[in-house]
Amino acid sequence: LMQLSVPLNFIGFVYREIRQGLTDIEQMFDLLEVEAEVVDRPGAAALSIDKGAIAFKDVHFHYDPDRPILKGVSFEVPAGKTVAVVGPSGAGKSTISRLLYRFYDVQEGSITIDGQDVRDVTQKSLRAVIGMVPQDTVLFNDTIAYNIRYGRPAASDAEIEQATEVAQIARFIKELPEGYNTKVGERGLKLSGGEKQRVAIARTVLKAPPILILDEATSALDTTTEHEIQSALDVVSKNRTTLVIAHRLSTVVNADEIIVLKGGEIAERGSHAVLLEQNGLYASMWNRQREATQAEERLRQVRESD
Ligand code: ATP
Repeated sequence: LMQLSVPLNFIGFVYREIRQGLTDIEQMFDLLEVEAEVVDRPGAAALSIDKGAIAFKDVHFHYDPDRPILKGVSFEVPAGKTVAVVGPSGAGKSTISRLLYRFYDVQEGSITIDGQDVRDVTQKSLRAVIGMVPQDTVLFNDTIAYNIRYGRPAASDAEIEQATEVAQIARFIKELPEGYNTKVGERGLKLSGGEKQRVAIARTVLKAPPILILDEATSALDTTTEHEIQSALDVVSKNRTTLVIAHRLSTVVNADEIIVLKGGEIAERGSHAVLLEQNGLYASMWNRQREATQAEERLRQVRESD
């Protein structure tokens, strides 16, 4: 029997690996709308993670040679700290997260994690230590539980529930008629952007990676949802090296450092307080956003009183 069960198990294993591999790749491409650009170097070693310190050194990058996107960007995310990247639309913020996850390689300069160039390590080992909460999470056509367990296949039901508590989505799930067994995705229950992002956060909580990339949803969220997501993220990013790609400024106030990207270069950097005091680009973005939020709130109050 042993002789038979080994190859059978092996076939099952290979089948699962292939199937999982395909869904991974499909999802990854859907998520970021990119094609496979990078391959492991022959004999690439696994990333050996110590504390998870990230360094971008003089990074130059373009998708199209005629249009440079990053023109010599250098910054560090010390182990356990949070750095936020902000800047006008199209400045290259999300590109920074794609380069760290190595969907593309830099053309000049380097990106290292604990001193190891991301180009020298296997992609598998790199992605194993990074939890990515993308702008728009594509969910599998399967149950909510499956979608969250994907972060760590061996997780128990209790751990999944715990992760959803942290991600502030537990109550929502429990109120669904089929709870955690509700089918979601294209062919199931359609979740809102904020709900999908919280499912992605729960998945990441379960994975518990040393490094976190949060690429905020660009779409406007209502204030309550935004607060819920923010407090979930605060818990998840605590003591983890975190890179926040921020499209809204409310989420970056507590970052250890804020990098203001403009025209492919770092225009300003510092804490929220320091940047406000400088009264430059960040301060004007902040004031503009605050006015917009206040106008929205007033509009909502008017609508509600009608
Ligand atoms: P936003 O705040 O609007 O999301 P961003 O700062 O995150 O913007 P990126 O997504 O990094 O901007 O894109 C930077 C620039 O690179 C944009 O002008 C974009 O059109 C271009 N770009 C992004 N992805 C690709 C791609 N796959 N191929 C070619 N150009 C791209």
